[in-house]
Amino acid sequence: MKPFTIRLNFFGDLGFFLGSKFRSQPVERRLSERTSIKDVIESCGVPHPEVDAILVNGQAVGFDHTLVRDTEVKVFPVANRDTFTTEKHLQEIEIIRFVADGHLGKLTRNLRLLGFDAAYSARADDRELLDIMARENRALLTRDRRLLMHSIVRHGYCPRSQTGDQQTIEVLRRFNLIELIAPFTRCLRCNAQLQDAAKAQVIQDLEPLTKIYYDQFRRCYGCGQIYWAGSHFQKLEKTIERIQACLVGKRGD
Ligand SMILES: [Zn+2]
Repeated sequence: MKPFTIRLNFFGDLGFFLGSKFRSQPVERRLSERTSIKDVIESCGVPHPEVDAILVNGQAVGFDHTLVRDTEVKVFPVANRDTFTTEKHLQEIEIIRFVADGHLGKLTRNLRLLGFDAAYSARADDRELLDIMARENRALLTRDRRLLMHSIVRHGYCPRSQTGDQQTIEVLRRFNLIELIAPFTRCLRCNAQLQDAAKAQVIQDLEPLTKIYYDQFRRCYGCGQIYWAGSHFQKLEKTIERIQACLVGKRGD
């Protein structure tokens, strides 16, 4: 097959993924065999779950589109979807179940604190993460781009920031979760949902001062952990306030 050239332009924050040799756009790839657009995009460092739309010579295509000759390609992210006009979107926006890799403990805790279903194990390996993702239809959260490029990953996101709070804001925005925030409804330890518990039901498990000063309790029906508005609660409220302040501060951008 005669060699041909693919010229790719990556829009929005997809530049984050481009390797140092691809910093100046358009990125040029020289091919000598039929290649899927998905493989060419990922060879530039951009995982497919981050790609919401692809235009090939102006035509919207899916990931399985095959390239055979000189081609101009435009690649769009999920963020700011409204500003990129195309009829064919490759990602779902609203996903409410997640599995996070072992490096995203703070993000996981924040998501649970805000009421979202986030599976997590500090020790899970790649295979286990992908199994949970597929079996329970969860979106994969990881900063491991290679893992995100795995062919069985349908939905996923790579947090750009390295800090838990910023990562949380990114995930809330990416998956359109802001309206669904429900603080203190999920166990921070095990991810199960919390239910109100009468004081009489939990009193035997409480410290003496807690028995005296608190009357309202929630219990996790997964692991049995009891929650009340004690000193740790104020710290958690501060975390929620901080995240919500960031969300409001950037509204309209
Ligand atoms: Zn629990």
